[in-house]
Amino acid sequence: MNRRSLLELAAGAAIGLPHSAKSENVSPARPFRFLYATDIHVQPERGGFDGWKQCVTKMNVVSSVPEAEADFLITGGDLILDGLEASIERSRLEWSLFDEGLKEFRLPCYHTIGNHDVVGWSPKSVVASDHHDYGKRAFADRYGEGKTYRSFDYGGWHFVLLDSIGRNVSTGEYEGRIDDEQLSWLEGDLARTGKETPIILVSHIPFYSVWHQVLKGPGFHLDGKALVANVFEFRKILEAHNVKLVLSGHGHVLEKIEIGRIHYIQGGAVCGMWWKGPVYGNPEGFGIVECRPDGSFSWQYESFDWKIRA
Ligand SMILES: [Zn+2]
Repeated sequence: MNRRSLLELAAGAAIGLPHSAKSENVSPARPFRFLYATDIHVQPERGGFDGWKQCVTKMNVVSSVPEAEADFLITGGDLILDGLEASIERSRLEWSLFDEGLKEFRLPCYHTIGNHDVVGWSPKSVVASDHHDYGKRAFADRYGEGKTYRSFDYGGWHFVLLDSIGRNVSTGEYEGRIDDEQLSWLEGDLARTGKETPIILVSHIPFYSVWHQVLKGPGFHLDGKALVANVFEFRKILEAHNVKLVLSGHGHVLEKIEIGRIHYIQGGAVCGMWWKGPVYGNPEGFGIVECRPDGSFSWQYESFDWKIRA
């Protein structure tokens, strides 16, 4: 792809936005599947755009396997390389590449916000805070039907896409946090869902994680950017409902934690180590989740056989 076509993409020329999310319901009497792709970090460098297209091609293949078709895609955030420090032109270019790569995907898509989908929340940013795209507005408009968090029902299950990107008021940078307004909404949303319906939450920043301690030692201290800081304060809301699974991303690792009856899965990364190769032996890939009528589920991670570029 040459510079001219990249700029045309940046200008939004001839780009169709991905399928809008639709909230259709299937009979809870049968299992259904969905795909989960997180930390895509689309970029023109390192073949990151071709990598995204290769991932979409593989997602189309695995989602159309007879008897194992998938019904929709959830993305887990960090759709683009980075909006935090990038100029408006650069972040729009990356979003256009994300959309362009997804154009051939044939299923409905539901997008979760990641920290790198937020524009200008960095001391290095040159984006003015009154710019239309500043903060979370561009994501909300492009991918969230005007919102950064929302929920939907499918096949007898309830799905919640959270906005886990809080803001540290003293540094102006992001931190992992579900804010009070969203927690009030979540409480009402889960109350309406009831105590029986199986629930899947998606939070770009994980609620729990152990890989840092595995690799860096048990005393390694995580900063406020690695995990959602206030889970301890609101976990009773989750435990009062039939939450089965919390999907996350952010660390680019494949990690599965089971605490009580809730499973926490950090779903690897489409970009692996920022398009530089696998992460601790796990290839670039995405997840396939099967949800069953009895409230059980299964998880499978699928590589799309990406080869890094020199
Ligand atoms: Zn992230």
